[in-house]
Parts: sequence; C-alpha cells; structure tokens
Amino acid sequence: MINNFLEYKEFQAYYGESFSVEKNRDVVEVFNRLCPYCGAVLSEKHSLHRFDTHFRTGECIEQDETIYYCQNDGWWQHKIYERQDSSPKNWYSVIHEGILKTYDDSSANIPIQVLNDYIFNDPDKITNIHHKKMEELVASVFGDFYNCEAKVVGKSSDGGVDVVLIDGDNPTMIQVKRRRSLQHTESVSGVRDLLAATLLNKTNKSIFVSTANKFSPEAEKTASLSIELGLVEKFDLIDYGRFISMLKGRPQNIEQIWDGLLALTKLNDKHYGLAYVG
Ligand SMILES: [Zn+2]
Repeated sequence: MINNFLEYKEFQAYYGESFSVEKNRDVVEVFNRLCPYCGAVLSEKHSLHRFDTHFRTGECIEQDETIYYCQNDGWWQHKIYERQDSSPKNWYSVIHEGILKTYDDSSANIPIQVLNDYIFNDPDKITNIHHKKMEELVASVFGDFYNCEAKVVGKSSDGGVDVVLIDGDNPTMIQVKRRRSLQHTESVSGVRDLLAATLLNKTNKSIFVSTANKFSPEAEKTASLSIELGLVEKFDLIDYGRFISMLKGRPQNIEQIWDGLLALTKLNDKHYGLAYVG
C-alpha cells in the first residue's frame, strides 16, 4: 500500500484590526509537532525566522515559515505565521497540508509522480509495481536524464521494444523488464531480442532496463560485441542498482512542491508582510 501526500489543501487564518473579522484561529493554535495520522514526532524540513520591515514607516512584522513532515508516512504541513509588533497585535497565517491518498502498489492507475516518490523512498518495492507502470517510470526517468521525449510504445506484441527515446532523428530502443525478484539474472536471449528489434527498426541505439540485480556474462558479452561489430552504436544494460541511482538523481516531486510553496525567502524589500501586500 502506498500512502501519498502530493495533493494538499490551503487554510488561512487571521486576527486584528487590519482584517474585518477573525478567521480560523483554531487552525493556528492547534498546531503541534505530532503527525495526525500516526502520532510520530514530526521532522523539520525547513525553518526560517525573520523580520519584515516596512520600507517607509520602519514598522516591523515578525515572521516564521516552517515545513514539518512525518518520516513514517510522509504527512506534511507548511506554515507561515506573521505578527505585527505594534499594538493592537495583528497576525496572519497561511497553512498548506498534505491530503492522504492511498494506492495499491501493484495498481496500473497510480500517478507516475506518486510512484516515483514511493520508489525513491523504498527502492526494493520496485519488484511489486505493475509492469506497465514500470515502463512509464522508465520513460519518465530516461526522458529527464537525456532531456528528450520518451514514449511508451510497448504492446503485448511489442517486438522487444517498450519505450523509445526520441533524441533527434536517431531514436533509442528501450526494453523494460520488471522482474518479481531482484535476484533474477537477465539472460542473453532478451539482449538478442532487443538487438534484433533495434536493427529491424533501422536504428542503432539500445538500452535494456531491468529490475534484476544483474545480467549474465553472456548477455554482457553480446551487448559489447554488438558494438564492436558495428551493429549498433550503443547498447546499455541498466540493472536495478543503476536504474535506482538514475531515479534518485532527480528531486522527489514532494520536494518540488515544497520549494514552490516557500514564500518568505522570495520577498523583496518593497514588502511589508504577506498579509499586507497591497
Ligand atoms: Zn505519520
């Protein structure tokens, strides 16, 4: 089962004479350092304390921005809280909180961003995922890695090609195998099939990606021989370890969401608090 918090909701809360009514005081005051799902102590991801001074009057607002998250299940909260130092004490807060979505890890309907973050945190679980999802994950990771379009083309009669990397007019043929065990050894036959499919497509770049820990010596020999003989220009064998390090070479989607929410570090001198921007 995958618990995921990529989706989130937003609350605002405020009090004081700058606002006509008080709103959501509870949201701010009930905040604590425990995960609402599992009770674990939350970990701090981000914390910033600063003073935002009015560029004309010199009046000051005290601000805090934090992100806390749960290491067990990934629940998180981003919060900005600001207080005016002059009397009466105005305050304003904006809060974002992850919304729990649950998926079966072998489902064919998991969003690829969710699957990516799940495998990022728990790489061994890759053997459980749906084989079509593995093809999409490979397309997503390789598309980013080579900075080009990656298309899932695999059908049941795919002729040995599941994903095509479209890099100029010399596409790369990719075969993807989601094995049920990391201990599996990829044999030479799959490598030969991919070589044949590459040649039949009149292209000369091949990548074989597997969740197995290793390729057989004969599979490795065949891949290098195909290059030595000039049949193809490239024939990469990507095993579990290499694929996971490629996947981990880019930030998790949740990290990108958090970066997008952080607001205080982006304020400039013409600001006077988030609530008072006119
Ligand atoms: Zn938790």
